[in-house]
Amino acid sequence: MGVYAGGSSRMLVTPCPEGVTPLFAPKFIFSLLDTMNLNYPWGDSRRFNSYSGYFRRLMGGRVQKVTLDAGFGCPNRDGTISTGGCTFCDNEAFCPSYCRPGKSIRQQIEEGIEFHARRYRTAGRFLAYFQAYSNTYAPLERLREVYDEALSVPGVAGIVVGTRPDCIDEEKLDYFAALAHTRYVAIEYGIESCYDRTLKKVNRGHDFATARRAVEMTAARNIHVGAHFILGLPGETEQMLLDQTEKINALPLTTIKFHQLQLFRGTAMAAEYAASPSRFHFWPLKEYIDFFIDILERLRPDLVIERFAGEAPPRYHAGPVWGLVRNEQLLAMFEQRLAERDTWQGRLYVGA
Ligand code: SF4
Repeated sequence: MGVYAGGSSRMLVTPCPEGVTPLFAPKFIFSLLDTMNLNYPWGDSRRFNSYSGYFRRLMGGRVQKVTLDAGFGCPNRDGTISTGGCTFCDNEAFCPSYCRPGKSIRQQIEEGIEFHARRYRTAGRFLAYFQAYSNTYAPLERLREVYDEALSVPGVAGIVVGTRPDCIDEEKLDYFAALAHTRYVAIEYGIESCYDRTLKKVNRGHDFATARRAVEMTAARNIHVGAHFILGLPGETEQMLLDQTEKINALPLTTIKFHQLQLFRGTAMAAEYAASPSRFHFWPLKEYIDFFIDILERLRPDLVIERFAGEAPPRYHAGPVWGLVRNEQLLAMFEQRLAERDTWQGRLYVGA
């Protein structure tokens, strides 16, 4: 799944404060909760079900992801499905410097832990995040070598495995389910869009039904399931993206990530943009935040929002960018806008 990959916490939503049990209480009740610094249905006072809050509830504290490249391939690039790959794909743009497949998994994790320790406050516990390409695209024996090695490194609390929905089967899921008895295990599927026409146009090589099947098979084994979606793929209108939330809400996901469409140099999509820019729509930053809030209002309250946007290093870009805006700044702007609009995740969710 590579760059655009993307977990089940149905049981992780903590109850509302006593007397406020309905998830979809009137707006004034939530405003009151906010004023009183009480909790939303996910168990804290932030206006969305955050990834950090999820891990605080699940593991009692902060957990840092360490990105790794185990050298897996992708059937959408090696000729099994196609040779071109997804038209937006550029794995390089998202891979930190310590993360190279020539190094052993242990070495990458140790260097990754050191990297994070130098830059950020130490988390103490880490998740080995297999992001590049399709990390279940190999025989089961190879998966065992990689993931057993990762879980043997001190400090590693679990694994997050990014992959394509068509690179999983019952046998592999049974292996991950056995690991999940004692460790944190999440499989992140790159879904990107619920619309088959879009998936075809970006040469994704699978349809939405395949993604839904993979998510359901994974969740049925009590493995956390994540999904990744891109907002702004050519041909998709804002209304289509708002409507898509219904299909997302019907998936048994734990976590979800969204990214605004970013174009990377050398990709097929960058060439399409150069040839026909009018087919693309890029939201300015403030408009994107407002539009994402429209989506968030429709999302199930128990869906953990891992990310709503991101920026790759400018040197990779081939399209409009927001400039040098860090993820922390994006998050601060997002939360400020949620407060200004006095809204929250799931405000317009009407249930199944
Ligand atoms: S071609 Fe598509 S599925 Fe393959 S690594 Fe790139 S984004 Fe992931």
